[in-house]
Parts: sequence; structure tokens; C-alpha cells
Amino acid sequence: MRDASRDPADLAAATERSQDLVEQWLRGEAKPQTGDLRKIAKLVGRSIHFFFLPAPPSSARPTAEFRTAITGEASSPSQELLEVRFARNVQKIATWSASEVRFGRPQLPAASDDFHVVARQFRAALNWSVLDQRTAAKSSKTAVFRSLREKVEDLGIVVLLRNAGTGNCRGFSLPDSSVPVIYINAAYDLPTLRTYTLLHEMAHVIRGDKEICHDSDTPLERWCDKFAAAVLLPEHDLKQYLSRESFRRKHPDLDSDLDAVRLISNRYGASWSAVAIRLKELGLASQRLVHLVETSRGEFQEPKNTFSTVRQTVSRKRAAEFGYTYPRLILDALDSRRLSPLDASKYLRAPGPELHNIAVQVGRSA
Ligand SMILES: [Zn+2]
Repeated sequence: MRDASRDPADLAAATERSQDLVEQWLRGEAKPQTGDLRKIAKLVGRSIHFFFLPAPPSSARPTAEFRTAITGEASSPSQELLEVRFARNVQKIATWSASEVRFGRPQLPAASDDFHVVARQFRAALNWSVLDQRTAAKSSKTAVFRSLREKVEDLGIVVLLRNAGTGNCRGFSLPDSSVPVIYINAAYDLPTLRTYTLLHEMAHVIRGDKEICHDSDTPLERWCDKFAAAVLLPEHDLKQYLSRESFRRKHPDLDSDLDAVRLISNRYGASWSAVAIRLKELGLASQRLVHLVETSRGEFQEPKNTFSTVRQTVSRKRAAEFGYTYPRLILDALDSRRLSPLDASKYLRAPGPELHNIAVQVGRSA
């Protein structure tokens, strides 16, 4: 209960029992029934088997270090903690698989104070050309997110996209020399926001910060935002675009021009906020524009393409949730017989026959 930030009242609500009875369970004076146990297990995010272990696991609670960051920030701290624990487990399994199949360590730029330099080096490591980015942006902003995520995962980083609840963190980072994990909260459904969060968390991974990111205004958070904006909006290409005669004529003063922000956002698939921050850092606008973007929330009023005609199969859902790196590691471990099909199914939360479909989905012939 402590680990999941739950109290007796939560258990009583989940099991539809009186709090008195729950207190009796806790004192060992009464026993919950199987149905109760199932509901409790679901509430605290554990399997039923967990409760039949001879003793609780002795390792330190992995979520403890995040607790202070979550308390008072998240609208539902227990949901956030469950997601942190989920990501930790993924990282544990991925790290084990990586060591079994001799997976290379990600090559990341060294951290330094100058976000311009780190962003440039990171962009080079990604091997993501501006042309690729702009071509994706022409198709959709979701395509930019997908393209960038794939590039980041190609570096050997696990990128999870799961629902951690509205009003909770945008994302968090679990750096590691073997398999770093980035978590993006899918409750924020604007694709540009996901792209921005992905790069923001990437900054934390490069710096080695274990960080859970709510929208707080600290120098560290701002540094990561500036890094993200710099990766998304390469200086040379951006300046070339802005210096075009036709652009300059229509947009003489960028500092109060939300239409210019919209155009730049569309060109690169970057969020409006990223555009404003970038223009400010390059000395082309002031804090006024950053503030204007924040208060107008114009991007949220843009028409959204919410309809997807793609049928949601288990394998597609898992690929969206787990990305590429994690399933590939599991499938490699399965191929080299380090892992049983049963365990692979469990780790990918997919019944046996779906493993093949997931392999196809993540671009691996099974
Ligand atoms: Zn952050």
C-alpha cells in the first residue's frame, strides 16, 4: 500500500468493503476473499502471484526516489508511481536482454552547459536530415513524432508511450549506460507536444538526470526545453526560411506574429512553444512571443486529425506503446533461446500467436 500510495480508504473503495473490515485485514484479524484480492492487486498494480511470495521483495522500492517529485505535482500520484514502476520493469528486462544478446550501448553526445552544441551533436548522432523531417511534417505532425521516435530508438533507447493520466507528468527519464528509457505520457495527445517531450526527456538522458517532468519552471527544465527546440529547429535551415523575401514581407515583426509561429510549426512539426523558445534563443523574438504563445493556446485550437482508419490490433497497440527497441530486444533473446516464448509473451503483454505479428510490426521478420 505504501509503495502504491494507497490508504485503507482506497482499498475499501476498490473492494466495496467497509473501512473497518479493511483495517481488520491489516491487523490480521480477518482475511480478504479471492475477489477482494483481485481488486486490490489491480489497484496497486501487482499480479495476484505477488501476494503469494513468501516475503516482500527485499530490494529498495524503485519508485522511492521519484516520490518527492510526484507528491504535490501530479493530479494522481499513485497512477504516476505505477507507471514509473512499469517503466522500471521494462528497463530491467531490456537491460537483461541487451546483455544476453550483446546489444551495443547507445552513443550519445557528452553533456555540456551549452545546449546549442549538445543539440547539434545529438542531431548528428540521430542522422535525421532536415529534409526527412520536413517531408514527414508535410504528411502530418504525427509522422514527425514517429520519424523522430524511430531515430531515437535506433540509438538503442527505449521510448514508451503510455497513458499516465491527464494532469500528470508530461514524461520522465530513466538514464542508464546500457538501455536508457524515456516515458511519454500519451494523455497529452497533441503530436507536437509528444515530440517536444521526447526531446526534452532526451536532454535529461544525455545529462544523466533521473527526472519526472511536470510543467515546472526551473533552470534545469528550461535547459531541456531549449535543447528540444534547438534539435527540432536547426538554425541554418530556419534562418534561411525566415530570410525568404516572401516570408519577410508578410511577417516583418515576429515578436507578435502567431501566424508566423504557425507556419514555422507546420514546416518542422514543432510545437508552437518550441518555435517561440527557439526564436527567442536565436535573438529573433523576445519573451513576449513565448508568453503570447502560452496565453493564446492557439495550437490547441488548430483542427485535429483525430480519426484513424487503421484497425487497432494487439500488435499495433504494443508497437505504439513499447516502440521498437524493447520488442526487438525481447525477440532477439527469444531467438537466441535465452528467453522462453511464455516469458516473451508475458514481457510484451501479448498472447503467443501475437508475437509473430509484433515481430512484423517492429520490422523484424519472424
Ligand atoms: Zn524535465
